[in-house]
Amino acid sequence: MRLLLAEDDIKLAEYLVRNLKSSGYVVEWADNGVDAEFLALEEDFDCVILDLGLPQKSGLEVLRSWRTQKLDTPVLILTARDSWQERVDGLRAGADDYLGKPFKIEELLARLEAILRRRFGHADNSLRLDDIELDIDARTVTMADGESIRLTAIEFRLLRYLMLNPDRILSKTELSEHVYEEEQIKDSNVIEVYVNRLRSILGKERITTHRGQGYRLSI
Ligand code: CA
Repeated sequence: MRLLLAEDDIKLAEYLVRNLKSSGYVVEWADNGVDAEFLALEEDFDCVILDLGLPQKSGLEVLRSWRTQKLDTPVLILTARDSWQERVDGLRAGADDYLGKPFKIEELLARLEAILRRRFGHADNSLRLDDIELDIDARTVTMADGESIRLTAIEFRLLRYLMLNPDRILSKTELSEHVYEEEQIKDSNVIEVYVNRLRSILGKERITTHRGQGYRLSI
């Protein structure tokens, strides 16, 4: 999962980035409205966390511009405490949910998970596809007949992305954008190594290689 965090409070942003990463998200950070607006339109994110009080362009203006341009990425807005007007304006402008500052990181993570579940149509904190079950909290994968296997961070992000996009050919570039942290070298050739590790867990035929195009998880 790739998130865009738009927040100008550097201390808060660093704290959020650290926690989001340790929860398995790949995070890009923008500290002003202009950069945030541009990034979300240019790149592919699964969710945006948008502070409404941003310099250069307010979060509300940014959100309105995205929705006018038909960008349908889910947006969680961060609003000033006790400002019901901000919350109403934000929701009317197309936000999916809001969180008033200050908030507990646990609540942010829970709201994000809820948004992503709604987005991808899952009822609880596991993903199921055929006989594969991925537990999001424990980061384990279980096959119908087998034991639970704990995945490394990159294996987990790769399998989650494949399961959210079944029967679609995903290029190495797209996969590497969604599984590597920003400071990691986005070496798309290494994806093959991780794909092979997942194959050894899921069975060889589950992930097919499409020469020159990418990989597909078939159901
Ligand atoms: Ca702010």
